[in-house]
Amino acid sequence: MRDRTRKETNSTPEAIRCQLEELISNFELHLRAGELRPKVLALVSIFQGLRNLGKAIIPQKYASAARDRILYYFRKYPNVIINGDELLVVSGIQEYARRLRELRIQQGWAIASGVTIKDMCETESDEVPDDLKAMKPDDYVLLCDTQDRDAAYRWHLANTIRKERSSVRDKILKFMRASVGQGVTNEELRYVAGDKTEWARRVRELRTEFGWPIVTKTTGRPDLDIGVYVLQADRQSPEHDRTIPDDVRRHVMRRDGYKCTKCAWSHAEWNPSDPRHLEIHHVKHHAKGGDNEEQNLTTLCIACHDAIHR
Ligand SMILES: [Zn+2]
Ligand SMILES: [Zn+2]
Repeated sequence: MRDRTRKETNSTPEAIRCQLEELISNFELHLRAGELRPKVLALVSIFQGLRNLGKAIIPQKYASAARDRILYYFRKYPNVIINGDELLVVSGIQEYARRLRELRIQQGWAIASGVTIKDMCETESDEVPDDLKAMKPDDYVLLCDTQDRDAAYRWHLANTIRKERSSVRDKILKFMRASVGQGVTNEELRYVAGDKTEWARRVRELRTEFGWPIVTKTTGRPDLDIGVYVLQADRQSPEHDRTIPDDVRRHVMRRDGYKCTKCAWSHAEWNPSDPRHLEIHHVKHHAKGGDNEEQNLTTLCIACHDAIHR
């Protein structure tokens, strides 16, 4: 639909409502007359009136463009599941999904879609709070009401990497190694993966099989928001400390209070001159028959971990 009635968007919601009421009552005549085309044309005006009403219910001084209205709506209701139809109403445009992607990936707003949450449910269901598990593909939620200003830089990087001819795992790793210590969102990772569902599985593999210290809210950094992933350092954990399943990792970290069991270091003490992170260590080495049971695992900061292996 072309925006033929642009000037009307400046009208008050009440004025638009009155016009609509008139159009709808006139429609009675069209219904009786029985001619098809005039009915359709009359409905076009009604559709446009409704669309203008949707645009007008958020005052212009708060948000004038479609994208701003979408953002305004999300920020008014953070952590609430919002359906695409609501965004159609407040944005007044059919292509609201594209505006949403710009907000999410280019501008760094942590708006997750039902599609991405479903990917997480399949591989990392512990990461997803129960109330989000029922999200439908066309549902969206603002997970954290602050804008990530570094997202614009990562957006360019993500666009380059997603076009490369390499595996999804390599693309994700490259993206994360370029953003060490910074949070990247589930939506960004999905985008880098070329929108492939496997992104969540690949992230888990990088953490559990390849030993990259990628953490989330439940796998080592309770201070993070849901849907945020951080590669804490550009190094892999020692070979013998890999292949620890995520659920075991979660339990051990939680049991040890997200602290080093030797020196009590926790992420709250992180500083750039001593950039540590926590790793899981096998008390009896995996290679020597030590198993992945919780009793055989302990949480260590990398300083203590390195010391033990020396
Ligand atoms: Zn320590
Ligand atoms: Zn170790």
